[in-house]
Amino acid sequence: MITPEQVRDLRENGWRDSSPAGDQIDASLRADEHRLDGSAVEFSPWARMVPRVSAAMDRALATPTVLPDLPALRRLSVERSNIGDRRPQQYGRAVVEPATTSERAAFRRMLEAATTGPVGLRTVVIHGEGAQLYSAPLPDTRATDAAADIQPDAWLPESEPFGAAALVAYPVPYGYSTARVARLALEGAMWCYWCDDWRHHEQIPFALIVGAGATAHVFPTCPRCRADLDHAAGVHPDKVLTFVTNDGWDAATGYPADRWR
Ligand SMILES: [Zn+2]
Repeated sequence: MITPEQVRDLRENGWRDSSPAGDQIDASLRADEHRLDGSAVEFSPWARMVPRVSAAMDRALATPTVLPDLPALRRLSVERSNIGDRRPQQYGRAVVEPATTSERAAFRRMLEAATTGPVGLRTVVIHGEGAQLYSAPLPDTRATDAAADIQPDAWLPESEPFGAAALVAYPVPYGYSTARVARLALEGAMWCYWCDDWRHHEQIPFALIVGAGATAHVFPTCPRCRADLDHAAGVHPDKVLTFVTNDGWDAATGYPADRWR
């Protein structure tokens, strides 16, 4: 039984009983990167001040997402992670040594843990027309259907397509940061979320990244739309909106670790 004092505490001080689930959720809500002075890196902390971005976030939060299976997450590899603490190599001449079998196996287990728990899940979602979709495979019902002699889709309501494609939520596994997953997931993105001018033109150079609890939403942005958004954000746009660059530097320099970027 919760007492009135506890309710007041909860409202005013964010108090809660200690619980494993609560701790996991809190942990996933914490920043995963810090500046040298110890302050947390937040993504677009004042994004709601820009009406266009605020509307995009409303749409983003209402868009269904799904954590895909491991084969759909090929971009997240041990060679591209922070593991190994690689420094930048000469631009365009980088050679990344392939990981050993045991390193790959260990990373695969960590990636699996990042998609199945047990701890709170930190994810990154890329939005827009070319974003990766994933649909959960239909369960194999043939054996039971044959026994029951019913048509497999006879009982599925038409209004609810089972296994419908949803936007991929990339997990942030061990060895990665939210921004690092965002940069990798953006590789090859050739659309601007905000306008129709940038379509299959070339790799999109920027993306707006907005934090929402344990999920970071990413909106590919062309130079002109970035200028518009920066203008709308006021006199200190870098304090309002956070952009990641998508210029191929990471690939060209051998995917150096975050702290050497
Ligand atoms: Zn644009």
